[in-house]
Amino acid sequence: MNIILMGPPGAGKGTQAAYIKKEFPIPHISTGDMFREAVQNGTPMGLEAKKYMDAGELVPDQVTIGIVEDRLSMPDCSPGFLLDGFPRTIVQAEALDEVLKKLGKKLDVALNISVPEDVLTARMVGRVFCTSCKTVYNTIFNPTTIAGVCDKCGGKLEQRNDDKAETVKNRIKVYNEQTQPLLAYYAQQGNLVTVDGQKDPREVFQDVRALLERLG
Ligand code: ADP
Ligand code: AMP
Repeated sequence: MNIILMGPPGAGKGTQAAYIKKEFPIPHISTGDMFREAVQNGTPMGLEAKKYMDAGELVPDQVTIGIVEDRLSMPDCSPGFLLDGFPRTIVQAEALDEVLKKLGKKLDVALNISVPEDVLTARMVGRVFCTSCKTVYNTIFNPTTIAGVCDKCGGKLEQRNDDKAETVKNRIKVYNEQTQPLLAYYAQQGNLVTVDGQKDPREVFQDVRALLERLG
């Protein structure tokens, strides 16, 4: 199954991806995760991406499209893929259409997780992740048993650099200006389905699973 996860920053795309990949054997491709890994490894691409990420801006399209094209060409994507955080601009969406055509693949669904703007800020400011196993928590909505320590592996929790209040504000603005228009793009293709992302994460997943089972 070929899936795009859409929705504003903080909507719960990564959280739902973690549930989806447990039940559907397809690779989770998060451009945000790929950029964060490149930043951590200090690669030239990571150094370039960091400037944009820390400002809450989008990494330029040419860079982003290149890494996604390479990733989708890998053999583990033959049963399908779960794209998270890509595409984020119309140029990226058009490039994805081209890449899929070239690879002989077809999109099954653009799954949009809908959450109102005021909720997003609280979610992002409270987001923490495990520096070891990368599990995502929330200090308010999904806290760990011991503050600052991962429930799964005992690793140390940290806040993302771009989850500071000022950066979060800009990321929402960038979403509204550059990414939100993609909803109309996928609606026109007949691929857009929206789920209510305000419920408890497990309830959101029940809706997502029901939808994917219908499609699959
Ligand atoms: P995205 O990948 O869309 O940016 P995340 O999955 O990282 O979003 O979720 C953002 C934050 O909100 C995280 O701290 C996560 O634990 C929390 N979160 C995710 N889904 C929900 C939900 N349905 N209700 C409350 N908090 C949630
Ligand atoms: P995310 O983890 O999806 O919240 O992404 C974190 C940051 O990585 C974004 O704010 C951007 O700076 C960058 N990024 C991730 N995906 C993309 C993309 N498709 N296009 C441009 N920048 C991206």
